[in-house]
Amino acid sequence: MPTTEFCLECGAPLVEGFNCWEQLGALIAWEYNDPALHAQHFLIVASYNLQHPAQFTDMAIEQLRSAFNDYLDHGVSAATLRQRAAKTYAGATRVLRPEAERRPQLQQWAMTIADVYLPEQPAGAVERLLRWASVIQANQAVAQA
Ligand SMILES: [Zn+2]
Repeated sequence: MPTTEFCLECGAPLVEGFNCWEQLGALIAWEYNDPALHAQHFLIVASYNLQHPAQFTDMAIEQLRSAFNDYLDHGVSAATLRQRAAKTYAGATRVLRPEAERRPQLQQWAMTIADVYLPEQPAGAVERLLRWASVIQANQAVAQA
């Protein structure tokens, strides 16, 4: 992957030389010191993946979107969602699209991982994460309207 100033899919800027994938890794690393953030691991990964749909099959994205909504709207636990996903993918169902078929399309978002991972500012990460997730959810509502 060439290094660009902005992610070609979610539009997140480089933050101190970290691309959006590396910012995700840095945010997840904060979970070790922040149990409240760790409790939202599902939401971190789901939010990131929903802003990077090109690597997934349509069905996988559909499943992820419904899990994300069940988690936010109905309080379905990450453990239950994991079991459900395990059942769905028990067969040979493909989750990832072959690399040659991926067509990332840039979408502009009010928030990206770069608004959640603020270097040296782990305080408030959970609140930023929840705002990020609600931006993604609001965007789906618009897309479906
Ligand atoms: Zn990105």
